[in-house]
Order: sequence, then structure tokens, then C-alpha cells
Amino acid sequence: MKPAAQYRRFRTLLIANRGEIACRVIRTARAMGLRTVAVYSEADRDAMHVAMADEAVLLGPARARDSYLNIERVIEVARKSGAEAVHPGYGFLSESAEFAQACAGAGLVFVGPTAEMIKAMGSKSGSKLLMEKAGVPLVPGYHGEAQDDATLAKAADQIGFPVLIKASAGGGGRGMRIVHSPSELAAAVTSARREAKAAFGDDRMLIEKFVENPRHIEVQIIGDSHGNLLSLFERECTLQRRHQKVVEEAPSPTLNATQRVAVCAAARKAAAAVSYVGAGTIEFVSNGKDVFFIEMNTRLQVEHPVTELITGIDLVEWQLRVAFGEKLPLAQNEIKLHGHAIEARVYAENPHKNFMPSVGRIRTWRTPDQSNGLRIDAGYREGDAVSPHYDAMLAKVIAWAPTRDAAIERLNRGLEETDVRGIVTNIPFLSALVTHPDVRANAIDTGFIERELKELTPVAAPPGDLELCAAVAAILGEEAKAARAESHSPWRTSGWMPVGRRQRLFTFRHGQATEQISLTYGNGPATLSIGEREFAYAFSSSDDRRLDLTLDGMKSHIVAVIEGHELYLRTRNGRFDLHWVDPFGGEDEEQVGEDKIVAPLPGTVVALLAEEGAPLEKGAPILTLEVMKMEQTLRAPFAGVLKRIKCKVGDIVQEGVELAEVEPLAT
Ligand code: ADP
Ligand code: ADP
Ligand code: MG
Repeated sequence: MKPAAQYRRFRTLLIANRGEIACRVIRTARAMGLRTVAVYSEADRDAMHVAMADEAVLLGPARARDSYLNIERVIEVARKSGAEAVHPGYGFLSESAEFAQACAGAGLVFVGPTAEMIKAMGSKSGSKLLMEKAGVPLVPGYHGEAQDDATLAKAADQIGFPVLIKASAGGGGRGMRIVHSPSELAAAVTSARREAKAAFGDDRMLIEKFVENPRHIEVQIIGDSHGNLLSLFERECTLQRRHQKVVEEAPSPTLNATQRVAVCAAARKAAAAVSYVGAGTIEFVSNGKDVFFIEMNTRLQVEHPVTELITGIDLVEWQLRVAFGEKLPLAQNEIKLHGHAIEARVYAENPHKNFMPSVGRIRTWRTPDQSNGLRIDAGYREGDAVSPHYDAMLAKVIAWAPTRDAAIERLNRGLEETDVRGIVTNIPFLSALVTHPDVRANAIDTGFIERELKELTPVAAPPGDLELCAAVAAILGEEAKAARAESHSPWRTSGWMPVGRRQRLFTFRHGQATEQISLTYGNGPATLSIGEREFAYAFSSSDDRRLDLTLDGMKSHIVAVIEGHELYLRTRNGRFDLHWVDPFGGEDEEQVGEDKIVAPLPGTVVALLAEEGAPLEKGAPILTLEVMKMEQTLRAPFAGVLKRIKCKVGDIVQEGVELAEVEPLAT
């Protein structure tokens, strides 16, 4: 079939993906007036992409193989939904020739190249043969058919160590091994084959010279079905972990103008070799001087926004126009490079635990405003669950500015002003990465992250005076809010205040360390003291997670999230996690040997657990108080008899109010 025959105008688009890229595609498709259909697995019923689309259809169980990777099912659902076209996103079925074929067979427009083009470029070996013929520079290597050990060993010797062995069908850095000497080769081939067989069902290998001090440079290209083919400049993605990109930027800070022209021309030549239609990327590895073709990705890439920001082109819009059968709207000389853009991938993972994925519910998700050159492409919202079934990428933070330095500043600020709770993310790691002096100086290669890991994963700094004072302010703010919410609150009507100066002690734990701060209030301005240091303070809160704290005349904006006894603070000094040590004495604090049971915090009596006159063991429950939506049980400080109860269920009590009296056992 001639390419042009399978591209035509459509009105309903099914997005065969999830997460960030599904949301990204839906946004542009809707802006173009298309009806959008999302697909989802049982784990994704409440996912963001489902909420964004006009319609959504269930594919099947959570496991990708049973849902997002199930070609038959996706086609069936597309038909049922009345979709006329399918956008595959990236990952999942985006580079499956079989899927592209199945779409065509079902009369659906596949937003991407034809199955033949995917087949031709999908294998690293096959594409290298094509590129060799087209005169595109290759890394010296072996990409032949023969796969016996002797052939591979001989090829490696000829290429010269170190070499890189790669799965021909590979992707995502899997099935790849660096081999430094002949003696390591056999074992590396065996394990790479095993990994490739499991991941791609294909264990064919190729061997390349391992380029020293490697940098990753790639060119965005796009072709239409009328024979037009454009390059949209290059991106550099040298900051990688395990051959996976982490930070990407455009243009490459490594290339000069002449090299830029050359690499873009080489990429166009590569794509022209298969008369490419759709968006694609030609990837090169570089030693900082020359570039060598490594592979082509026949789809949109994660890092496409940096290209969009420097060219002003919406790549998804262009993909859809090409799929409509239209001509590309601009000519090569009309595509201009403007400024610099840089992107960081935000993952639900713990850099301190070998980047282990972090699953769970996102309780807080707050990102800064998308203005001043900042763009955030997210696939999750506050309240969404991160499931263990899929890629852990949550969002991308992308910044544009006239210069690289300014773009990095903006990116870092965007990262710093993002608050996520409930799951662990790599955001602090990304901040450390993009502000590292070697990254600023572009003195990097693909091994940089691995080498600098320690410096990029610093331990959290202990809270200082500002943070401790902010913690107290946050708790007081929360208590005041709880009091206001309770319409029958005695504070509200009577404004009851104790007579005289009163003191309240707050204890916070940070890691193994404990910090104490005391609040003195009543009869005059309140003060906070930490050790010998005393602070005048005032605060107000603009919304439930933002606090303006004035400490000794200096006002700071602070983000404070309180979840039970866990406090999250973000101040000008960074992010802090504090544990408020239970003031009820349930944990670290010593029980006071008082005979009076007093309310240590304002709250509501929700249960009486012992009767007057009852004998009490030490620690026996007396009553339950609800404080900040958390129940706290007050217990007998020593063995005795419950002499008197001075409250009843439903009472709202101020801190320091006597609730019961225990008479010690006569000794
Ligand atoms: P490459 O590293 O070859 O350039 P990309 O960086 O474009 O590839 O990323 C593709 C990867 O994105 C896939 O290998 C997969 O791990 C991940 N991925 C696939 N689908 C999704 C998705 N919906 N959301 C987030 N990440 C995804
Ligand atoms: P994948 O399909 O997993 O993306 P690639 O062939 O694109 O596989 O390689 C992944 C990464 O490994 C590249 O981005 C590049 O940084 C690095 N790499 C690939 N080939 C070489 C090479 N010959 N020498 C040094 N590094 C390489
Ligand atoms: Mg690649």
C-alpha cells in the first residue's frame, strides 16, 4: 500500500497509552477539535488520562500484557468506540509493526509510520545495514546475521575493546553490556541474550565499539506522506542512568553550528532511506567531536517537549496533520531555533534505595504555575495511585529560556517548588543533578550520574530555627482551623484564654535527632524559644498548605503539610520531614507523674473508657480525645483509682483543661 493511501482525515482518536503521554496527546487532540477516546486497565479506572478524554474504554486486567499491550483487544475497543485513528504514544505498542499493521487492517489510521517502516528501522542491526548503504556514519561494529560465539568473538577482537554488545531488538537499555576484555565476552553475551530473549523474545546481538566519553545526541525528524521530510534540530540526552535518559536538552550544548548542520543532514539522510512518514528520532552517540548513528526510534519520544519549546512547533499537532494526509506546514528553512530548553523526568522512585520504584497514593501533588518558561507535562494528579504495574514516570518538568544557564535556573526552580507527598520521588536528585557544576559546564558523559551518585543523593539537612518555628506555626494554624471548623467551639464564642503566661513544649524528631522548641503565650506577644534563642513571630496562612511566617521581622513563604504527626516543610533552605513527638506521652516522652489527667491539646472527648471508682493499672485507658482528626487515648500515669471524671462525651476541651483525676494506690 502506498503510504498516502492510509493517511486521511478523521474526527475520533483513540489513544492507546496511559499516563503522561496519553494526557499530552489528548490535550492537543482536543485543541484540534477531535473527539478523544482513552483506554485503561483495571488499575487505571481513576487515572488522569481517563478523566481527560471524552470517552474511555476498559481494556482488561492491570498487567500490561492483558491490557495496554494486547493488540487484539485494543483494536476491538477502537472499533467499538467508533475511533477512526489510533495514537500509540511512546513505549507499549508504539514501535510494534504488528500493531501498526493490525490498525491498517482494521481500517484505522495509525498515527505514525507504516508497518514496513517500523520493520525496517525497528531492528538495530537491520537499520544499521540500511544506514551503511545510505552513507550515514556508524560506530565501528558488527551487525551481521551470524550469531555463533566464534563469529561474535572474532568481531569483538577486530573492533577492539572495550565493546558494547546490544540486543538487536533492544530498547530501554535492556540487553546491553559493556565488555572491557576478551575474557569477559562469553559471559556477557550469555546474560545479554537471556535478558533480550525475556524482554523482546529475540536474542540476536550486535557489537559496537564502545565510544569513550560518550554523549547522546539525537535529531527530531518528521516526514509527511507527500515526500517532505524535515529535521527539527537536535537534542542532547547525555545525562543517563543505566542507558536511560534522565535529563534532556535542546539544542546540544556540545555541538557548534557546523556540527549541528551536519548531524541534522545525516539524520534527514537516514530517514530518507526509508522515505519516512511521521515523527521519529535518529539517535547518535558522540565522542564530543564526531557523531555515529546508533538507532532510530519510529515514534514520538519522551523528551519531545524540548524540541517543541525551541521551535514553537506542537509535535503532536504535526503528527496528527501528517496522519490526516496533510503536507507539513513549514519548509526546512522556515524552522528556526530559538533559545534553550531542558527537561527532567520525575519518577516515583527512591534514589537513596538504588532508585527502587515507590508505589502508593499521591497525597500531595503541587507544581508551580506554568508560566515564565516553565512547562509541566504530568500524568498524575493529587489523590492518584501509582501502581506497580507500569513505568514509574510521573511527569516531566521542562523549562525554556534564552540561554542554557537561564533554562537550568528555571528548571531547578520548577523542581524546587514542586511538592509531592505519599510517594518518594527523584525530585531532590534531579535538583542536585541540574545544579551540579559539571552539568552547568557541560563537562559530562553518559557515565556521569553513576560516578557522582553519592554527591547527587545528599542526606537531608537537619531543620534549623526557621524550620522549627515554622513547624510550630503550622501546628498552631492547623489547631486554629480545627477550632474554627467546630461551630460550637467555646473558643469561638467566648474567646476563652487562660490567665497569665503559659508555656507549651513541642518536640520534633528528625531522623535520630530530637529538637525542642517552646511557645510562651498569654498576656502579651507570644514568643518561641529554642535553647537560649528567643524569637518574636507572627504567621498567617493563605491556603491550607501555605504559610507566611514572620520571624524576627523577616517574612518567609513556607509550604507546610501536616499529616497526623508527620510534618512536611519547604522553606528557603529546602525540604524537611519532621515527626511531631506525640504530646500525649504515647511514645518517646516520659509520662508525667501527675494525678490530674489534662488535655495536652485542644480536642473533643469522644469516649470514656473507665468509670469513676474503677481501679486502674498503670497505662490503663481512661478516655479518648480526638485531636486533628486523630484519636488519642489518655492513660493512667500510675496504678490507682479513677477518682473523678470531669468531662463527658462530646465535650470540646481546651488544652490544659483537667479531664479526670486519678488517686494513687496507697503504698
Ligand atoms: P528511548 O530511551 O529509547 O529514547 P524514551 O526515552 O522515549 O525511549 O522512553 C520510552 C520509555 O518510556 C519506555 O521504554 C518506557 O519505559 C517508558 N514508558 C512507556 N510508556 C510510558 C507511559 N505511558 N508513561 C511513562 N513512561 C512510559
Ligand atoms: P536503546 O534502544 O536501549 O535506547 P541505544 O542503542 O539507543 O539503546 O543505546 C542506549 C544508550 O547507550 C545511548 O543513549 C547511548 O548513550 C549509549 N550507547 C549506545 N551505543 C553506544 C556506544 N557504541 N558507545 C557508547 N555508548 C553507547
Ligand atoms: Mg535509544
